[in-house]
Order: sequence, then C-alpha cells, then structure tokens
Amino acid sequence: MQGAVVNPKVLVVEDEPALADALEYSLSRQGYEVSVAGDGVKALEMARQTIPDLVVLDIMLPHLDGYEVCRILRQETNAPIIMLTARADEVDKVVGLEVGADDYLTKPFSMRELIARVKALLRRVRLDREEMATTSTPNGHPDVPTERMVFGDLVIDLSRREVSFGGGAFHLKPKEFDLLVFLARNRGIVLSRDLILERVWGWDYDGGSRTVDVHVRWLREKIEADPANPTRLVTVRGIGYRFEG
Ligand code: CA
Repeated sequence: MQGAVVNPKVLVVEDEPALADALEYSLSRQGYEVSVAGDGVKALEMARQTIPDLVVLDIMLPHLDGYEVCRILRQETNAPIIMLTARADEVDKVVGLEVGADDYLTKPFSMRELIARVKALLRRVRLDREEMATTSTPNGHPDVPTERMVFGDLVIDLSRREVSFGGGAFHLKPKEFDLLVFLARNRGIVLSRDLILERVWGWDYDGGSRTVDVHVRWLREKIEADPANPTRLVTVRGIGYRFEG
C-alpha cells in the first residue's frame, strides 16, 4: 500500500436496512470509505457533502427514485454509478443514455459480483485520470504504465495506436482502435450501443447504433481467435457489449 493513497469513497443508496448493512459491511472490508443514504433526497445531500468516488444506487427509493437521483447526480459528478435493479425491464432504461448509469446489477446479486463491478469502475476512473496526467506530463508517472494495455495475448499500444495479437502487430482503422480502447478500458462492464456511440463517435454522429455492431464485427475478425464465438468482445443481448480481459 502506498502511504499517500486515500481510500475511495463509496455512497450506498438503499432503503432496505438489511441490504444497506450488507453493502456497507462488504465495501468497508474492501477498504472503501462507505456512507449510506436511505432515500433519494438524503442521497443527493450526502453526495454533495462527501463527494463520493462511486455511487451504488437502488431504483425503488422513498421520496425521489433512483432514476431521478441518477439524472441529477450525472449533472453534478463524474463518479461512476452502479444501479441496483429489481426487474429485468428496468435494465434498458438504466444503462441507456436516458438515465446514464455506468453499470447495473439485478437483485438478488452476490456481494462478490458487486465488489468486482465496483473495482472495475474505480479502475476505469483511475486509468482516465492517469491518462490525463500522462498527457500533460509525459514522463511524470514512470511507475504507472498506461502506454500499453495487456490482456494475455492481446496487447494494445496506446502511443503507437497499434495492436498485437496472434503473433503479429498491426494497425486498426481509427474508429476500430478507438472502439477497442474504449471497450478495453471498461472491461467487465456492460456498455450499451448508445453509450458506445456517444463516447467513441460523439454526439453529433448520426449513423445509428448499427455502426457499433459493424465495427465490433470487424474487430472480432482481427482480435478474436474464433470470431464466430467471441470470448473478448462479448455480446450482451438487447443491450450492447462487454469486453472480457
Ligand atoms: Ca428499494
């Protein structure tokens, strides 16, 4: 452990006391600084006070529901938000741009799964920050290699915009490369087509979400051992994609 590292702060918003306690216990054991809010109004208050690094947010809450809380938080913070859904039909709304959550878990879920998602999202935030830091001071962080992302036999060289796979190094088309990097940075996290389109192609792009499918197909031809049975760029039915690294 480095002395200067401050434990990430996690805000849990959950009105069922037993689940709130379990979340608080499990997250604290991971070394996170946990605060708990039992309703939507309190959640906003606490978020403004504690400035959390990540929010775990239930949908069905007293006073202000999780959708509203998420929309408001999105205006105020870039902290990742994991939503806890009770029904499958809530999922589309949650991960779509309408609400803007970063990930979701459907109840009942295991604490192990939750911790894995929390770690993945916090890692993404850290990588984004490191990238910003290395962009401004190229040699400022010699102990944090962000130039290359390595996933077994797949290596993404960010500075050369080059990919190595299957024994050879090659270049991808610009958007293919951007898409791969975006997916890889968010490994383990379900990403909706809309979100991918917004982050990789930008708001002003009007090509439609099939563009994402086409590029994923091209990428699979290049970085999957068996493109017909992808193990890295995994389809999440009805939603989008997830990178397994
Ligand atoms: Ca609830």
